[in-house]
Amino acid sequence: MVLAQLGGSISRALAQMSNATVIDEKVLNECLNEISRALLQADVQFKMVRDMQANIKRIVNLEALAAGTNKRRIMQQAVFTELCTMLDPGKPSFTPKKGKPSVVMFVGLQGSGKTTTCTKYAYYHQKKGFKPALVCADTFRAGAFDQLKQNATKAKIPFYGSYMESDPVKIAVEGVERFKKENCDLIIVDTSGRHKQEAALFEEMRQVSEATKPDLVIFVMDSSIGQAAFDQAQAFKQSVSVGAVIITKMDGHAKGGGALSAVAATKSPVIFIGTGEHIDEFEVFDVKPFVSRLLGMGDWAGFMDKIHEVVPTDQQPELLQKLSEGSFTLRLMYEQFQNILKMGPIGQVFSMLPGFSAELMPKGHEKESQAKIKRYMTMMDSMTDAAQILS
Ligand code: GDP
Repeated sequence: MVLAQLGGSISRALAQMSNATVIDEKVLNECLNEISRALLQADVQFKMVRDMQANIKRIVNLEALAAGTNKRRIMQQAVFTELCTMLDPGKPSFTPKKGKPSVVMFVGLQGSGKTTTCTKYAYYHQKKGFKPALVCADTFRAGAFDQLKQNATKAKIPFYGSYMESDPVKIAVEGVERFKKENCDLIIVDTSGRHKQEAALFEEMRQVSEATKPDLVIFVMDSSIGQAAFDQAQAFKQSVSVGAVIITKMDGHAKGGGALSAVAATKSPVIFIGTGEHIDEFEVFDVKPFVSRLLGMGDWAGFMDKIHEVVPTDQQPELLQKLSEGSFTLRLMYEQFQNILKMGPIGQVFSMLPGFSAELMPKGHEKESQAKIKRYMTMMDSMTDAAQILS
């Protein structure tokens, strides 16, 4: 992931600075230049980088740096604070609540990853205990309904759409009504995208929005457009009341940093980022934990959240008890492997631990590690019960 490279470069610059025997203006400037270079390479706007550099120089007291033993911490904290300010996206206008029906409408240009993201969003909430449903109101792109249907079926999420009907408003209204009757609490409406921001796209969006009265409109954007994200986010914000933004394809693009900071500059709240094609390559975007992970400082709150998500509450004390007694059997190991696989992509979990950055687990290796765990589990499956307990 390109952003992991950014985090790696910043961490290396900080390490180099703290290794210097004397910290003077020159060493500090070198470190700041290194960090600025890394940010510019991630396509962050020049003015933002320049302001950030000036702010850090203002915050960091060179005397304290020279005397203190914790130079790296002081600088890391200053970089952390500045990156957080730069990427602070504001708060979304609405957050779905379990058991209370809500309608969320997705808008964006064609190819931005809108349909894929609808399913990821539904799947994420399903894991949190929501009852989501998907409505395909994209009658413009041939194959859109099939794609949504396929994704929804895989994730076991109810869906609604039509091959015959060409009026997106009619489909959206029918789908929303049906799922309200079925007591779904999160009804997601996927709308048409177009190649560019043309009037017809905005008009259709407005009509679907008027007819379905969404509680939240989410704008989906491809991170590869970099700094152009600013104009795109503004244009969509002016046409419909966009309450939140999701930035996709953050896994592969050198321009990810640019898109993220540009959207934050429009004060549109980024709530999730897409980090791959797979359904669980989707992360909550919360600025402090994100920057913390980027700098290799970990995210304990996120890690504990994952543990609580995948290990059933009643099994948590038992697991700790067994571990403290030293009775770690192969069967217990098998259960823990199952939990790890449920936690989602291993690289994502790794980056939540302090000292690790996503850079340490490149994409290809992630799949390899996951495959290895699966192989061990297959070997254990072929063992008898007695062997599993005794080992
Ligand atoms: P739509 O036209 O906006 O509905 O876009 P789609 O959902 O069809 O996505 C377009 C392409 O982008 C598909 O090949 C998706 O698999 C891919 N895609 C979507 N989100 C991501 C992401 O976060 N990372 C990567 N690498 N690919 C993505």
